[in-house]
Amino acid sequence: MNVLVVGGAGYIGSHCVRQLLAAGHRPVVLDNLVYGHRGALAPGVAFHQLDLGDEAGVARVLRAEQIELVMHFAAYCYVGESVTDPLKYYFNNSMATLQLLRAMLAVGVKRFVFSSTCATYGTPATLPLVETMPQAPINPYGQTKLDVEHALQALAVAHGLSFAAFRYFNAAGASEDGAIGEDHTPETHLIPLAFDAATGRRAQLEIFGTDYPTPDGTCLRDYVHVDDLSRAHIAAFPRLAQPGTALFYNLGTGRPTSNREVVRAVEKVTGRPIKVVESPRRPGDPPALYADSTKAQRELGWQVKFPDIDAIVATAWKWHSAHPRGYRG
Ligand code: UDP
Repeated sequence: MNVLVVGGAGYIGSHCVRQLLAAGHRPVVLDNLVYGHRGALAPGVAFHQLDLGDEAGVARVLRAEQIELVMHFAAYCYVGESVTDPLKYYFNNSMATLQLLRAMLAVGVKRFVFSSTCATYGTPATLPLVETMPQAPINPYGQTKLDVEHALQALAVAHGLSFAAFRYFNAAGASEDGAIGEDHTPETHLIPLAFDAATGRRAQLEIFGTDYPTPDGTCLRDYVHVDDLSRAHIAAFPRLAQPGTALFYNLGTGRPTSNREVVRAVEKVTGRPIKVVESPRRPGDPPALYADSTKAQRELGWQVKFPDIDAIVATAWKWHSAHPRGYRG
């Protein structure tokens, strides 16, 4: 299929482009390169540098490239920043997605794969999370993603849009060949910051909150490899042939990993100690989030290749050790 990958120069999008190529599809990348990296683009893949606000331009790309399905990864992803600058998230994550959808409907492209998030659940009453549990985000990041999920449902009813919304847990790791990886500016994610602390690029690593009601007092998250995420997306394509299909899937390994366990995994793979500073809780952080992904396994035949944190961190280290400054070298 001809697949437009919006945000295809970003972390998850760039990995998905490689997986699409491996599965025999024809990806086309659209990215404004605000957070995406030219160095993450796959060689030989068509690239259009465009903002989603340019609806006429997006519609032109959809037509010219004969796009059959759109995958949308372009979003801001910092929980903490979404709390301090919510408008940035409402405009980019919600409004820009609605503009993309309007451009798609204008030219009759009605298959859509959306990057949603476990942050739509807020602080869950029980764990692991299943798709039918109540969604009550506790930060604007999660809210903007949930707003889009609701819009997608309305568009499925009104216009026959078919979509799969994937609620990611913590995307992590890098391509197995070490060619592409995670590079955010500013970096706020735990694993890359732990590498920086291990290698001395940063003096220390702050752990936000050590008084959570969890076994070691730090937050529990469910780290899932970026290539495993991509493979689930592609496995959903056949199910989107029927107009008006609305699919929601959690994507995680189901294994809770504490922030301290992440630190230990990074120390192990790098062979270097990390100086940890115990800091106050970060606003907007639920104590524990981990997935029940049985639905994706059952319906999409999804099996993770990287089930544990050590294996995931090893791929991330391969990229990070070769590119300590990310795509800058
Ligand atoms: N975290 C931390 N120190 C950091 C960055 C993150 O303790 O320098 C914690 C954060 O509070 C959360 C977990 O690591 O409990 C995962 O955070 P991250 O930002 O990597 O992903 P998120 O869960 O927000 O998507």
